[in-house]
Formats: sequence, structure tokens, C-alpha cells
Amino acid sequence: MAVKGFLSALYEQPDMHRLAVAQERANAYAQARRVITMEPAAVIDAVKAANLKGLGGAGFPTGMKWSFVPPKGDKPHYLVVNADEGEPGTFKDRRILLGCPHALLEGIIICCHAIRSEKAYIYVRGEYIHEMKRLQGAIDEAYAAGLLGADHLGTGRRLDVVVHPGAGAYICGEETALIESLEGKKGQPRNKPPFPAIEGLFMCPTVVNNVETLSYLPFLFEMGPQAFNDLGANGTGGCHLVSLSGHIERPGVYEVPMGFPMMELINGLGGGVWKSRRLKAVIPGGLSAPILTADEAQQARLDFKTLRDMGSMAGSGAVMVIDDETPMINVLLNCSHFYHDESCGQCTPCRDGSWWLYKICLRIARGEGRVRDLDEIVRICNNIEGNTICAFGEATAWPIRSYVRKFRGELEAFIQSGQRASEADWYHDDLAAPPLVQIAGVAGTMGAHV
Ligand code: SF4
Repeated sequence: MAVKGFLSALYEQPDMHRLAVAQERANAYAQARRVITMEPAAVIDAVKAANLKGLGGAGFPTGMKWSFVPPKGDKPHYLVVNADEGEPGTFKDRRILLGCPHALLEGIIICCHAIRSEKAYIYVRGEYIHEMKRLQGAIDEAYAAGLLGADHLGTGRRLDVVVHPGAGAYICGEETALIESLEGKKGQPRNKPPFPAIEGLFMCPTVVNNVETLSYLPFLFEMGPQAFNDLGANGTGGCHLVSLSGHIERPGVYEVPMGFPMMELINGLGGGVWKSRRLKAVIPGGLSAPILTADEAQQARLDFKTLRDMGSMAGSGAVMVIDDETPMINVLLNCSHFYHDESCGQCTPCRDGSWWLYKICLRIARGEGRVRDLDEIVRICNNIEGNTICAFGEATAWPIRSYVRKFRGELEAFIQSGQRASEADWYHDDLAAPPLVQIAGVAGTMGAHV
């Protein structure tokens, strides 16, 4: 069963983005009023006890992340909200931004109290024009009602919330690239440590949290940490939003408890694989996640631990269904093109490796591949993994390697047939230039963030 009564119960109601409606029907800001009377350390302890985890992709424990922010010193503390929803297959944060932005703002107030911050920036994916307008409208209403601004909620302290548009680069969803972009620089990830909790935005202690993570905070405090934890499974509390897409009868966003069975999502809520076809594979957590075969999907549950134990990951909660008429070469080509296109270019293994992966995949797709190319793909993936500044390297290597390992027989047969893939002509042959020449192009694109 899908969960009804949390975020989906809000965003599925009309006009819930308006403050008066949110307060009347959903008691909006009641928990923020209560939490600001608590000691910040007690708020962090409650979030830890609830086992709330980051729902933007990393799955890091939220309360622990907050606890890394040092006690108030001479530097300001910041909250940065990651609304740069760009992982392929992921479209759940936009439901919150459009349908119930006051849940997010209430979560921001709670988090800022816990980490002693007086300023939050919401970095929104640049394409989300309507979402930004809706969000700004909610912020304006919150200021007018004294929920934000000077002496917010009668605390005697300031709390300002600023919306900042991104410019369309996938890598700006990585927290340090996002911070660089917010500071007006090229959106490229930083070396870590130091981590943002110590030196983040403007070199000050910063927490970066995803939209969905923060939006669950009012529910967490309403029901209590233990009850929130008990909703979930396998070390993660609560529920989460799943973006279901691909070859499915009823694509959409579904709210389910942690640990929800994959096949209940696909065959139950999603209405089954489209056109009465059979399931071939599932990408369980956004494009970065290693693929599951149809047999593996039968055992899968949607939570961080189960999918990690299966060699994949829950990531951003984006489940992409692949039917049995889809050639894996098309999936491979699509994926390799995306990562080649989005690499920020700082690290040689990622920049050049993703270029070579795409070049080889395109050659195979054009019917010019060799069986040993599959070994070369795995070798390049192995050389990227663990050798880069940010996790984009693993996000490139893991899925591509999983396609080759799990569907090697099909890919070998395709290569030996000498066929041309149906998607081979969708991609321009922009591979004539060596990677170093391409960096200039990448840097120019990233410069659009300034
Ligand atoms: Fe940039 Fe890729 Fe290195 Fe990340 S791993 S910093 S995206 S080149």
C-alpha cells in the first residue's frame, strides 16, 4: 500500500501552496512553533532517533550531518537546500515545490533552529521556472505572516530564505559544486575534507539538505521520532517519494514506506510493465544506480540497506522500468552519453574515461564494435572508480559496468551480429576532438552558472 497522509496528502490537495489553506487544513508551522522552544541539541537528537536519512541520493543520516556543525563561533552558519533535482528519472522534489512549499519552509525553520542558522539558500534547478515562482510566493507569504524575517515566530532572531536559480548542470546537484555555484563560481566539486559542515558556503559551517528530507521534518516532530522510525525499515525511518518512470503503465510519484517491495511498486501502484510486456530490468535509484535484472527485482525492497546489499543503491528514489523489447545497447549508449556530457572536467579519470566510454559505446551501437570492447569498458570503469574528486566518477562507472556484467551475453550477440542500434543516430559524433579540447566547451557551459 502507498502511504497517504504525509507529503502526498498535502501536494495532492488544491491550493495547498497558499499559507492560509496550509494552516487551516494541515496545521502548517505548528511543529516549527513547538520545535523553536526546544534546545538545538535536543532537536538534533530527535532527528537522529527518527533515523531520517538524506533523500537526495546519498542517504546520509540527517541528524548526524547536523551534529557536525560546530557550536556557534564567530562565523555565521548556513543552510543550503538542494533543489537542483537533476538525476535522470527523478522528479519528486518538484511535487513538493509546486504542491506544498510550506512543508519545506517549515522544515527549513526547524533545521535552522537546530544548526543555529539565520540564513537559508534554496538552490533550484534552473528549468524549474514554475516551481521557483510558486516557492517565492510561499516565501513572500511566510515573511508577511512573521514566520520568516526579523524576529521570526517571535524568537527575537532573524531568519531569511533566498531562492537561487541554477543553470542546468547536473554536477551542481553535488553539494560542493552547488556551493561553488552559489558563490558565483563555476559549478565544480571541491576536494574534501574540509566538508561543508566545517567550511561550506563562504567558507562558513554549512548544512546541505535535500528538499524532500527537510519537508518530512514537520511530520517527524508531529508523530515523534520513535513512530517516524517505526514507519521505515532496515535502519531508515519514515517513508519517501519514488519517481516511477520508463516502460510502466502508470508512471508518477508515489509515497511509500522505506522497505516497500519493488514488485508491489511496479505491478501494484504502477499498473505493471506497459503494453503487457515482460520486465527485463530495473534501475532502482536514478541513473547512477547499478541495474537490477528482472529476477533480482523480485527480491528488491526500496530502502538504502537492501539495495546496497544487492550491489545497487536507493539513490534519489527514481525507479526506471525497462521492458523486454529494449536492447541493452540503447541503455548503455544513453547512459554513457549522459555522463560524458555532464562531467565537469576537473579529474582526468572522469573527464577522459567518460569520453572513452561513450566513444566505445557509440562504436558498438553503430555496428562497428568488437567483443573485446566490453572488457575495455569494464577496465575503464575500474580505473575511474575511486580515483576522482567527487562521486560522479562512481556514478559513471557503476551503472555502465553493471550493464556489461549483467547483460554481457546479449551485448556480445549484438556485436557479433554487426547490427546498428536503433538509437545510434540520435547522438552526434562529437568525438573527433580529443578530451582536452572538449574541456573548453565544458568549462564554457559551466560558466553559465556564474
Ligand atoms: Fe568533475 Fe567528474 Fe571529477 Fe566530479 S569526478 S569533480 S564531475 S571531473
